[in-house]
Amino acid sequence: MLSYQHSYHAGNHADVLKHLCLLALIEKLQIKAKPYFYLDTHAGNGCYTLTHAIAHNSQHVDEVVAAKLSAKMAGGNAVIQQYQHIVSSYLDKGMYPGSPLIAEAQAREQDTLHMSELHPQAFEDLSHWTKGTSLHIHKRDGFETLNALTPPKPNRGMVLIDPAYEQAQEYKQVEESVKSLIQKWPQGIIAIWYPLLSPTRINRNTKEIEDNPKASLSEKMLSNLSEFAEQGMIDIQFAVQKPSELVGMYGSGMVVINPPWQFEESMKPILSALTSQIQIDDNSLSHVQIVVPSP
Ligand code: SAM
Repeated sequence: MLSYQHSYHAGNHADVLKHLCLLALIEKLQIKAKPYFYLDTHAGNGCYTLTHAIAHNSQHVDEVVAAKLSAKMAGGNAVIQQYQHIVSSYLDKGMYPGSPLIAEAQAREQDTLHMSELHPQAFEDLSHWTKGTSLHIHKRDGFETLNALTPPKPNRGMVLIDPAYEQAQEYKQVEESVKSLIQKWPQGIIAIWYPLLSPTRINRNTKEIEDNPKASLSEKMLSNLSEFAEQGMIDIQFAVQKPSELVGMYGSGMVVINPPWQFEESMKPILSALTSQIQIDDNSLSHVQIVVPSP
């Protein structure tokens, strides 16, 4: 089932966290001139029209504001400045760039970038937005592409795994794919985005408060991933607001397996900028946490 459309969520707090984290990882990979391999397993459309998203979902306006705010974030952090530089020209046109265009903006001639997207319309958009670039695009299941293209040669690089998590089985699919990826490519950096979901929600029909069946799946996935991430695992969570039955996704996280050296130090000022500029209440749920120390 491919009903998820990222255009309704483009530029929200979750995209901002994910794309800042992505840029921080790319910065680490580019410390050396050696080429790197990059794969985005769930690439999306490439670029999104925000005005279109707002027209279709009035609740989305605040979320888009998050992206606009982030584009104005003050401070001398180099990764935030890169982010501002990349997104500002798109925001000026009422657009927001997806992960493929963000990764492509930073890529050097020697790097090889692959993008996998299964949804026919999203793939068509991705083809349009990446035309004339050096990106390799695949109309294929992201987990299949991951298996087919790894281990890469040369073997330095990273994968971004960013599923829609529409179905509960996607959490298990991530775990299984990552487990086999670590076995065949122990050096690879693996970055996985996941949602932070409130434990309860309001039933649309009955208006009653009920348990959210997907609420603890991210936490379970993290715990299972930590079992086989022997080479280190860092978890970054940004809670834009407190969990409540009024919000489904109250924040999101990025878990990075085999993180580059001092990656947590790079992410701390970024998370602190997000909490001071974008967070809408006074919760203290956000963190940068070493879950498994690097050997
Ligand atoms: N990574 C994108 C970004 O940051 O701009 C957003 C990706 S969006 C969260 C998830 C995408 O995965 C959607 O475009 C959806 O069509 C696609 N998708 C869903 N199932 C997939 C699968 N099995 N393989 C590849 N793509 C899939």
